[in-house]
Amino acid sequence: RKKFSRNAQTFYQPEMYTSMSNDLHTEMNLRKGIESNEFELYYQPKVNCEDGSIAGFEALIRWNHPKLGIRGPMEFIPIAESTGLIIPIGEWVITQALKQLALWDIGHRKQYTISINISSRHFLHNDFPKYLLSQMDYYKVSPSRLVIEITESVAMMEYETVKERIHYLNELGFSVSIDDFGTGFSAFVYLQHFPIKEIKIDRQFIQEIESDEKSLSITRTIINLAEQLSLRVVSEGVETIEQWEKLKMLGCHELQGFYFSKPLNIKKIEELY
Ligand code: C2E
Ligand code: CA
Ligand code: CA
Ligand code: CA
Repeated sequence: RKKFSRNAQTFYQPEMYTSMSNDLHTEMNLRKGIESNEFELYYQPKVNCEDGSIAGFEALIRWNHPKLGIRGPMEFIPIAESTGLIIPIGEWVITQALKQLALWDIGHRKQYTISINISSRHFLHNDFPKYLLSQMDYYKVSPSRLVIEITESVAMMEYETVKERIHYLNELGFSVSIDDFGTGFSAFVYLQHFPIKEIKIDRQFIQEIESDEKSLSITRTIINLAEQLSLRVVSEGVETIEQWEKLKMLGCHELQGFYFSKPLNIKKIEELY
């Protein structure tokens, strides 16, 4: 930012803003961030809908940027995806999560699960299962403790590859979860052909279950469908007790959202749970 003199700022134009902010998230900067170990996983509790007890945690990445402070994934995951850096970042996420599970095992904590987000590009990458297996082997954690969240967009790309991959992961004992369920186009194909263990109802439906009949109907239908297919169903973005009550009435299994907890760093998580 320094290179812009005071004078230059009086000629401020929207394009300049774009190029300045992009500048901070270029491939080179992202690479530097990876090398300097500037990423951190935050954890958000997933709770049982019945009584609010902890069921597990979702790992959500943050970038502790030396100049910009803590940045959310929306700011850098898209660039990571387009440059391919999502592969080393995703591998780092896998390793961190497994290391955390192994540490909890040593401390004899409860057998919580950790859910991780894997981008479609990484999920479809040749080395993805190999890497996952090598790390499982190293950290000696049971695959049943790791939930792999992918979005519906994956199946739009290479149906056969995705199908094989989900079957393989399932055989190995991992659970695959469909994130942001209901926002893509291929949701039902997934449920018909892939051994999915969980679906997560997107926040946009949950947000409006009280004010909008349609959102309520969609949520009810997804929960009933999950019930019929013996899938676990998670609602994300629960912010009020009223939403919780409604979802309990509908028979949802697990909840996630600010009403229970924001995503927190590992130190806070270990203090609280
Ligand atoms: P997501 O997987 O759908 O994660 C849920 C997002 O909603 C998180 O945002 C979380 O902080 C936020 N959230 C949780 N509860 C509430 C709530 O009650 N109200 C509201 N308004 N928001 C809530 P976050 O951490 O900024 O992550 C955004 C997205 O970035 C994630 O959406 C996921 O798609 C992606 N992402 C996060 N971590 C990773 C990662 O390690 N790898 C990859 N490939 N993507 C990631
Ligand atoms: Ca997710
Ligand atoms: Ca989601
Ligand atoms: Ca979402």
